[in-house]
Amino acid sequence: MPQDCIFCQIAQGNVAADVIYQDDEVTAFHDAHPQAPTHILIIPNRHIRTLKATGEEDIPLLGKLLAVARDLAEEAGVAQSGYRLVLNTDEQSGQTVFHLHLHLLGGRRMGWPPG
Ligand code: AMP
Ligand code: ZN
Repeated sequence: MPQDCIFCQIAQGNVAADVIYQDDEVTAFHDAHPQAPTHILIIPNRHIRTLKATGEEDIPLLGKLLAVARDLAEEAGVAQSGYRLVLNTDEQSGQTVFHLHLHLLGGRRMGWPPG
C-alpha cells in the first residue's frame, strides 16, 4: 500500500476525491480531468501497479471492476447510449497513474481509432 500512490490514498480516504462507490474491494470516483461528460475511474482498493501485475487469483477482482463499471454506467445514465471502458497499461498506452484503474467514459460519441 504505497503511501506515495495517489489512488491508494483515495481508496483509504486520506486524499479527497468525488467517490461515488466503495466496498471492501473497489472504489469508484469521478476523474479530476474529465475527458467526457461522464468520466469515472474504478480501482481496486489494493495497490496493483498495472494489469500485467495481476494473476489467476485476481480474475474475480478484474471481473468485479467490469461489473461495477456496468452498474455505474446505468446509474450515470449512459448505458442506453453506450460508453467506453479503457484500461491503459504501461508507458506507451499513456498510463500516468501506476495503480490499476478502469476508465468509464460516456455522454458523447467516441472516436476510433483512439489517439
Ligand atoms: P491514466 O492516464 O490511464 O493513468 O489515467 C489516470 C487518470 O487519473 C487521469 O485521467 C487523471 O485525470 C486521473 N487522476 C489523476 N489524479 C487524480 C485525482 N487525484 N483524482 C481524480 N482523478 C485523478
Ligand atoms: Zn496504489
